[in-house]
Amino acid sequence: MATSAKKKKNSTMKKIGTPREKPERKLTRATMIDLYQARQYLGLDTLKETGLRMPVRVYFKDPAVAASTEGAGIDEDFTTPWEPGLADGPTSARFAVVDYDATKNVLTPPAIWDARNNCYLAPDRKTVLDDKVKKLYQYHQLSVWATVQNTLDFFESRAGLGRRISWAFEGNRLIIVPHAGYGENAYYDRGSKSLQLYWFESEKGTVYTCLSTDIVNHEFGHAVLDGLRPYYYESVLAQTAAFHEFMGDLTALLMAFRNNAFRKVVLKESNGELSNAQLLAGLAREFGEATANAPYLRTGLNKRTMQDLAGNLEPHALSEVLTGAIFDILMGVFAKHQKNEVSRAKAGGSRRPSDIRALADTVPRMQMLAIQPLDLLPPCGVTFRDYALAVLRAEQVANPADPSGYRELMVDCFIKRGVLDEADRAPLMANGPVFRRPALDVFHPVDSIAASRGGAYRFLDDNRTKLLIPPSADIDVPEIVRASKRTRDGLPLPQQTIVQYLWREELVLEGERFGRFAGERTTMLCGATMVLDQNGNLIHWVRKPGTAAIGTSQAALDEQAEGVRRRNELLDTIAARIAAGMVGESIGGELGLLQRATPPFTVARVDGALRFGLAPHFALDDDHEHDRTGERQWQISF
Ligand SMILES: [Zn+2]
Repeated sequence: MATSAKKKKNSTMKKIGTPREKPERKLTRATMIDLYQARQYLGLDTLKETGLRMPVRVYFKDPAVAASTEGAGIDEDFTTPWEPGLADGPTSARFAVVDYDATKNVLTPPAIWDARNNCYLAPDRKTVLDDKVKKLYQYHQLSVWATVQNTLDFFESRAGLGRRISWAFEGNRLIIVPHAGYGENAYYDRGSKSLQLYWFESEKGTVYTCLSTDIVNHEFGHAVLDGLRPYYYESVLAQTAAFHEFMGDLTALLMAFRNNAFRKVVLKESNGELSNAQLLAGLAREFGEATANAPYLRTGLNKRTMQDLAGNLEPHALSEVLTGAIFDILMGVFAKHQKNEVSRAKAGGSRRPSDIRALADTVPRMQMLAIQPLDLLPPCGVTFRDYALAVLRAEQVANPADPSGYRELMVDCFIKRGVLDEADRAPLMANGPVFRRPALDVFHPVDSIAASRGGAYRFLDDNRTKLLIPPSADIDVPEIVRASKRTRDGLPLPQQTIVQYLWREELVLEGERFGRFAGERTTMLCGATMVLDQNGNLIHWVRKPGTAAIGTSQAALDEQAEGVRRRNELLDTIAARIAAGMVGESIGGELGLLQRATPPFTVARVDGALRFGLAPHFALDDDHEHDRTGERQWQISF
């Protein structure tokens, strides 16, 4: 920490102009902490003025976009949340940057926290880490930390999930390794509790994946989803794996979209037509240019549908359908806001219709529309349809009268992509009560359900019949959370209590199609997510049933039939993946080790039964799987 002697030295240096002036400290630490405690009541400008949001210079997208697009280089308005416990690294409550390069076997010294001036410095304790020193690894450390710190805030804020997020691993900090080693790769790895970001040489020089805001946000999206729904990992279903990729791309897309200055560049580049806005929709340009000779790696501007990709088990390709649907919705919402601008101007307002304002208005709606429904997803085996239904249900609760027709827009977009069917339209658009009470045998107050996992177990067990849970199922409740979300106008939505519960059903892999696994046992995850408001009304209930008999009522028979369909789908997918040679044993998991030999799907033995799952990450460099599809995929995964 700077001594007073150092401070004097710095002020002299300030006069001669180098290094760059440190931000002047205006408030005492005690005042900062007071304000920090009241931060949810403060507006963005106040947060910036008081230093509760710290300025950090990060790339809008990546160095390639910076070099080729005027105005889309370094984001000068970027800020990230301050918190009282910041330390060298950077290290904060939920992140720790550890700059260990496994290829070079070098641990780079960390960025230094200057608590007097509320900023990070180079190891000389003088140089402020900004874009003038972007070659310094400590600048990379700060930029990657500031990005994820801000993105976590985006997810946790009330316009997002309205609650804190847990990681899928023990401990409070996700480790960020900005220069993990040499390789065209980056991934989130639960086992080592880390994001691993590699660097490689290209024709244009060294590419640091940690400087690509898209790649960092994509990988962080995996970490967030893994925290919200840890059992998605344990799935071989194409759509569940693809949903993880979608979540990565959605995070990258929405974080870029949130940026005012960037949106202006997007409008200019596309002449106000978002259907041309490849700058916004295209992801990871530098990585795409260097590894795939393409202007981007994946894009929201695509025409892919579920029908086109029927039978395709490759998660990255399949994820583009859902990313495309969300981008269609984004364009539709923007068009509605453009119309509002025009009618406001016609009604005699003094201001002219503005695309910039229309696009700015689209931002909070997209955050609400795409992020809030994540709490309504099932605990296992998620499908694109589950997400579409969650999006529509969240919109219905937030905006029941829907005078501007947002739900119709979304239904159209999901049907066009084949995520929903035409037959879904009528029931989804029907007018009915917004809330129902769940049918129960034994009432439990929401407070007692939410108070502990024990409370939730008792509630579920007392109501097994009505909740369609088999009598013999051994239920697990991985997490219960409460959330206070808001509408885009800042109004509170009903408080949500979110209960996830699961059980396992044993299956035998019978027949030659299971190859070397024939005759072995495995398990199918079954369960549900129930979301209640504070009065016990049902906000959402999504189920993934098993095949066990649960009664003779029509509801029970339908539930069982769905369980049989799920079992057959699971067995067929396991057989297809075994036939494609995609299942293998995972090797090691050391921090920073680039695992070229890891297959995309893994198998482990737990309690005598096989557990298939997504690999901790995919190492796709020379993977046959991708040679066969003729595409170079984002070499990145879990
Ligand atoms: Zn990914």
